[in-house]
Amino acid sequence: ATPAATMVGTTLGARNGVLFKGGDVLERAKDVDTVVFDKTGTLTRGEMELTDVVVLDDDDQPTAERSSGDGTPAADGGGQLTARKRLGEDDVLRLAAVAESGSEHPLARAIVDGAKARGIDVTDPDDFENVPGHGVKATVDGRAVRPTAERSGEDGTDSRDGEVLVGNRKLLRDNGIDHEPAQETMDRLEREGKTAMLVAYEGELVGVVANADTVKESAKDAVSQLQARDVDVMMITGDNERTAHAVAEQVGIDPGNVRAEVLPEDKSDAVESIQDEGRKAMMVGDGVNDAPALAVAYVGTAIGSGTDVAIEAADVTLMRDDPVDVVKAIRISEATLAKIK
Ligand code: ADP
Ligand code: MG
Repeated sequence: ATPAATMVGTTLGARNGVLFKGGDVLERAKDVDTVVFDKTGTLTRGEMELTDVVVLDDDDQPTAERSSGDGTPAADGGGQLTARKRLGEDDVLRLAAVAESGSEHPLARAIVDGAKARGIDVTDPDDFENVPGHGVKATVDGRAVRPTAERSGEDGTDSRDGEVLVGNRKLLRDNGIDHEPAQETMDRLEREGKTAMLVAYEGELVGVVANADTVKESAKDAVSQLQARDVDVMMITGDNERTAHAVAEQVGIDPGNVRAEVLPEDKSDAVESIQDEGRKAMMVGDGVNDAPALAVAYVGTAIGSGTDVAIEAADVTLMRDDPVDVVKAIRISEATLAKIK
């Protein structure tokens, strides 16, 4: 495009909240034939909220009382009490929240905020390790595990330090903990589109916590407008298959176009392999995780309140947090180039 056309397009874009980084991308955007959306924070609002805390019982089934969330204490079946059996809902949530207080991840913040909202005192973990794309591992001071009446020993205390894991199935598997007993609970929550996370304490699976996110109002519109223009719409996420498909269904993305459980470092490879098929892909994302994928995409688009790293790696920034502006970006590119022909 001529400098004049570039100026016109850039100005038109800016007026519509679409910032093009130069004339090249303004020209390229019209040729995009595939749009790959990141899920969390891009199609969804990225404002997670804690929705479920499930205690896994000794018989490996969540009891109705314990999963109801109304604070009703579960009846004890008698017999020998294991550490696991004596944990209540608030204990599981406290363990998860203390471990997650070392993390900046939106999932972590939702768990910490949810615990605080329930009146739980969230202390700092003794030791903390972030396992990217999988969860967190932390050492929790035993004193942080406040005994409930049910679980307290004779002196009313339990001061053992313990290792807490909060994360996905792979995190537990990699640490030698069987997650099978939580399978039914996980499946149910994931079918509801929630992100369910396993909680283990001292090498034992003790519960499941889940966060829900809401799809952005215009996400479905954005997808259908792109599809109407013959643009193939895909979704890529680190989240699990079931949750990803539940969200894809809500916004109208074809199940075959969903790439789930993609590790942060593999997102750019996924975009590259799509482009190896000869497609011209626009990647739309908001997170630090998305930056390498934004950089390799034919057009990288950072959305809304995206992180600085994402904005820096992108060719286009959508000022509003609105997926429909992806369509605007393509249309502005078309309009600008049409004018100068
Ligand atoms: P996304 O692409 O949705 O931002 P990530 O790649 O950051 O997801 O994480 C992928 C999955 O790893 C999450 O869906 C979750 O199951 C697990 N995970 C990541 N970080 C955490 C955390 N801090 N606590 C618990 N689970 C986590
Ligand atoms: Mg994201």
